[in-house]
Amino acid sequence: MKTFAVFGDPIAHSVSPRLHNKAIADLALDALYTRVLLKDGNELINKFRSLKLNGANVTLPHKEFALNLADEASEAARKIGSANTLVLKNEKIYAYNTDAPGFLKAISNFKEAKSAIVLGAGGTANALTYALRSQNIDVCILNRSKARLDKFKDHYECFSWDDYKEHKFDLVVNSTSAGLKDDLLPAPKEILDGILKSAKFAFDVIYGKQTPFLKEAKRQNLACKDGADMLLYQAVLALNLFYNGSLDEKKIEASMREAMCLA
Ligand code: NDP
Repeated sequence: MKTFAVFGDPIAHSVSPRLHNKAIADLALDALYTRVLLKDGNELINKFRSLKLNGANVTLPHKEFALNLADEASEAARKIGSANTLVLKNEKIYAYNTDAPGFLKAISNFKEAKSAIVLGAGGTANALTYALRSQNIDVCILNRSKARLDKFKDHYECFSWDDYKEHKFDLVVNSTSAGLKDDLLPAPKEILDGILKSAKFAFDVIYGKQTPFLKEAKRQNLACKDGADMLLYQAVLALNLFYNGSLDEKKIEASMREAMCLA
């Protein structure tokens, strides 16, 4: 039997066990998937090995530890700077990032997007900007404060709220946590209104609630999507990585989609 887990802090809220265990059952795999509260990210690999895991997902705040402590990492995970999936192969632990391709699958119906603005410059913005650029989409970043923009400055056009100059974008992506536990917009209303009025598509990484950002985007008639499909697809891709790409992703997706509704 294979054993998988998701590591994070906090972790009790994670839907990953529900998604993976439903797919494991539906695909008749001999495996189980559990959750592990991990306080110290430095202990990630020790814990992975002591639990004799075959694979794991890693969520906040340990995704950088996952990249840095694994034996090998995919090129995408290295370029993004974080990993959310670990796989044991021949006693070595390999790190991958499925947030980026999960995001691209989630926005696959936003086909005509040629330019995008990513709101926020945290860990998730790394994966999203990498994913967008891989599709030759022009990417610009707008963040509340200047400090976090430093790591992006050499590769992307970056603005803070203080120095934003009006541009037009096809796609607007909220990668901030504004709206998650509050009713805040991810940028000042006058800046956001200017961005939304000429855009066609809006995506919010937050899922399970209608954020003020998505409400505003809907009001301005943009095609909108929340982060539920990104969450779903990163899990579909991770489970397939645990099995070396041998599973049917359509079947995993159908199964995990059912599990998403079992709240
Ligand atoms: P980080 O803590 O790394 O970054 C947070 C970012 O949000 C920073 O840029 C910060 O700006 C900005 N921010 C926070 N509060 C506000 C606010 N009130 N107004 C404007 N900007 C704000 O977080 P992550 O990047 O790791 O995660 C961001 C979100 O993505 C979370 O809500 C998380 O749940 C979600 N997520 C969803 C996934 C999915 O599958 N759907 C996958 C991964 C994450 P500043 O630099 O100024 O502080």
